Amino acid sequence: MSTSASTQRLRNQIALVTGGSSGIGAGVSLALAAEGATVVVNYSHSPEGAEEVVTSIEKAGGKAVAIKCDVSQEADVQSMFAQIREEFGTLHILVNNSGIQEDAPFLDMTLEQWEKVIAVNLTGQFLCAREAAREFIRRGPQPEVSAATGKIICMSSVHEVIPWAGHVNYATSKGGIMLLMKSVAQELAPHKIRVNSIGPGAIKTPINKEAWDTPEAAEKLLTLIPYGRIGEPSDIGKAAVWLASDESDYVTGVTLFADGGMTLYPGFASNG
Ligand code: NAD
Repeated sequence: MSTSASTQRLRNQIALVTGGSSGIGAGVSLALAAEGATVVVNYSHSPEGAEEVVTSIEKAGGKAVAIKCDVSQEADVQSMFAQIREEFGTLHILVNNSGIQEDAPFLDMTLEQWEKVIAVNLTGQFLCAREAAREFIRRGPQPEVSAATGKIICMSSVHEVIPWAGHVNYATSKGGIMLLMKSVAQELAPHKIRVNSIGPGAIKTPINKEAWDTPEAAEKLLTLIPYGRIGEPSDIGKAAVWLASDESDYVTGVTLFADGGMTLYPGFASNG
């Protein structure tokens, strides 16, 4: 592991990463495990990716299990949380990461494409956050484990603030996550539950492969990133560790953009 057991920032904590089987979720799972958390790596369809993440964590000396669940289905989510409680007793950290894109020009977007993205990206985050909060409150404070009674991290996007033509369903889901996160943070703060988001910019994962996997595409993408590099899942893993740890104990209700400056209106860098 990267840190010695005594200095691991998330030791003795149980974390659930939805969609932990791929891309950013895999990066977050590895990072949380390296800080001592036992990680539940959720996947929706094929177990291979999740098993690979679990094996990597175990090889590095950490603890992880894979659990199947479609986050858009209430019964599925409730049974995943029951399984976590049975196996580990409780949960301390939820990373609401699962997300999909079903792109189409607005005029051609079908109701099915709209509903599918909202169901996974927004309703899925609501269902998992609600079950996590219920579990945090049932268990109560454990100050010897963490200053907060529970931590929820929502994977949002720069598209919670940047409109995105051709991706209206996706941008709407991320804008929705912003006020879901803030409203839940406001409601749960008295319970000492912290709720925050991460707003990734362009991160190299399967969801946006066509935007970075040829030199021409990568060059075009880089014009939107003042910091001059495309992000890696480990960049988001580091942000998630900080938001889950006591180092951010006074932070709730915010979106931490990890985007190489994508939200800085790069088009105005040379005076507009
Ligand atoms: P990805 O396609 O690699 O990962 C998506 C994950 O979501 C997969 O693990 C998949 O199994 C899971 N998932 C899909 N449908 C699900 C369902 N019904 N139930 C449970 N899990 C389901 O893509 P990624 O880039 O790693 O995306 C992860 C999150 O990061 C998403 O919320 C995405 O919107 C967000 N994000 C990504 C980027 C980027 O540049 N890659 C930028 C901003 C935000």
